[in-house]
Amino acid sequence: MTFPSDFLPYLRPNEPLARYSALRLGGPAEWLYIENDSSARLVEIVSAAWAENIATRILGSGANVLISDRGVRGLVVINRIMQVDFGETSVTASGGHGLTALARKCAKRGLSGLEWAASVPGTVGGAAVNNAGAHNGNIAGILTALQVYDFEQGEITLQNQDLSYAYRASSLKKRPDRRFIVLNVTLSLRPANPETINATMDEFVAYRKHSQPTGASLGSIFKNPPGDYAGRLIESCGLKGYTVGGAQISSRHANFFINSAGATAADYRALIEHVRDVVTRETGVILEPEVEFVGDW
Ligand SMILES: Cc1cc2nc3c(=O)[nH]c(=O)nc-3n(C[C@H](O)[C@H](O)[C@H](O)COP(=O)(O)OP(=O)(O)OC[C@H]3O[C@@H](n4cnc5c(N)ncnc54)[C@H](O)[C@@H]3O)c2cc1C
Repeated sequence: MTFPSDFLPYLRPNEPLARYSALRLGGPAEWLYIENDSSARLVEIVSAAWAENIATRILGSGANVLISDRGVRGLVVINRIMQVDFGETSVTASGGHGLTALARKCAKRGLSGLEWAASVPGTVGGAAVNNAGAHNGNIAGILTALQVYDFEQGEITLQNQDLSYAYRASSLKKRPDRRFIVLNVTLSLRPANPETINATMDEFVAYRKHSQPTGASLGSIFKNPPGDYAGRLIESCGLKGYTVGGAQISSRHANFFINSAGATAADYRALIEHVRDVVTRETGVILEPEVEFVGDW
């Protein structure tokens, strides 16, 4: 890889990615770059990589990606820029801002609309790409504008209707080139009593604690098929507790697979494929992964 020498102090070669993934596994990035402060520098460094045709993957909290044991060629960027700007009934947050932290800040301001996000891990950027959602809410329901840095067009603003949002899907997520950076997300909110907003959030957090396992996971592994639940189908096949290496199907929620004992990404992928095969054979339903496979497989 050829990078302008000014950027080299920001890059870490051969950096293990396990600590940047919610699953706590995965091989090294050829180069890792973590940005905490400057959108301008983020754009400069990523543009330099694009110009050199270096494969580049921007990550937030790594809460929806299964990173291969072999690691990721090229540049992996961890976006941790935490900026927030409130309007009267809106908020604009940088792509690296934590989603749960943003939800609580909005509550404090008396702005309702992000209650569903109080227990969804990850960043605002990851949520905008994935159309994250919970408790009948999702980012598509409140997003008004997305500021993106695009390889071909430079800095552009996309409106909600430009993003083809659907269940855990967006036009950005489908882009094979991946040459875009979510810089800022603007959400439309409504005034409400902070105590009421916080009480709803607390209820959602408590529900999750009760219904979902603790321990390293990626949340739901498969999307729910129309009219049904992936977890119900997996459980109906008697797969709760099924294990491959250190990767185990949770006994509390069958669509959560836990890294219970030093799992490898290969264990995880084998478990995902086994479950998909068994569910297809037993029920006729072909489950589609919600998680993304990143790196060299
Ligand atoms: C315990 C647990 C519970 C979960 N529960 C839910 C849930 O209830 N609902 C739900 O929807 N999801 C859930 N998830 C999945 C996850 O929280 C979401 O998918 C979340 O939006 C991922 O955000 P992230 O920042 O970690 O994104 P990452 O996993 O880091 O990245 C996701 C995608 O977004 C891209 N991306 C991220 N940031 C940027 C950026 N700034 N610019 C360009 N591309 C970017 C990445 O390249 C990747 O394609 C859960 C995960 C866990 C671990």
